[in-house]
Amino acid sequence: MLLGILLSRPVPAISAESVPACGANIDVRFDNDSKGVTNDVLMNWIKRASTAVCTYYGKFPVHQLRLQVHVRGSEGVHHGVTYPSDNGGLIRISVGSSTTASDLDSDWMLTHEMIHLAFPSMAEDHHWIEEGISVYVEPVARVQAGQLTPARMWKDVVRDMPQGEPADGDRGLDHTPTWGRTYWGGAMFCLVADVRIREQTHNRKGLQDALRGILNSGGNITQDWEIEQAFAEGDKATGTHVLTDLYHEMRDKPNPVDLAALWQKLGIQRAPDGAVEFNDKAPAATVREAITHPMK
Ligand SMILES: [Zn+2]
Repeated sequence: MLLGILLSRPVPAISAESVPACGANIDVRFDNDSKGVTNDVLMNWIKRASTAVCTYYGKFPVHQLRLQVHVRGSEGVHHGVTYPSDNGGLIRISVGSSTTASDLDSDWMLTHEMIHLAFPSMAEDHHWIEEGISVYVEPVARVQAGQLTPARMWKDVVRDMPQGEPADGDRGLDHTPTWGRTYWGGAMFCLVADVRIREQTHNRKGLQDALRGILNSGGNITQDWEIEQAFAEGDKATGTHVLTDLYHEMRDKPNPVDLAALWQKLGIQRAPDGAVEFNDKAPAATVREAITHPMK
């Protein structure tokens, strides 16, 4: 009787696999409470996300990642969270059991979470830079890895970036912990920094060099750094002062960005249906192209 009751309940099936990711190891634990999306399909999704991150950073950001995939809930990918751990990181993420391979091919969330591994842990006031980097770099990394087209990426960026603009009463990125300023305000900081670095270096360096510089000097999620230390390392890698200067401009005052002028300069024109067209004669068209071009 007791046995019968136990067997009639859905018993979570736990299984584990290990995936190499450009010199690191991802230990995956699947926690399935129902039939549906298979582990093979999930493994392919994990490999795509790690490939995007490896492409952007030139290496996997931590030696060891523990990834817990909970198969439950409605279709799609939900509730990704990333934590530092002793020798690397831990990501917990949920995938609905009816999620298809094609849903997973267009997923951004796992790439976003893995990008969190590649930047040092910050104090609460600077949460915007952690989220901003993940929001800004995620589609760029996927385009560089051939998983997304530049036209699709810029369409979404042009549509979503205005959410990062300051609202009335804004006190700068360090003192305005709203959703818009944390995620998209942080992403806008990254976009402006990327364009400025590329303009100042005649397109020889970009934000990607700065972020690789921070990671290569040991600044991954396992480390607690001051924000100024991270920006100084990033600036050293590009031979500029862009990150430090822009931080001083945006940390404690609203400092809105003229996005319309920025899109025009980059040669991104939006059609009424939301699709974008590129103007290769725009003054910073080569900057736009360099952002999504894979780096050696
Ligand atoms: Zn995040």
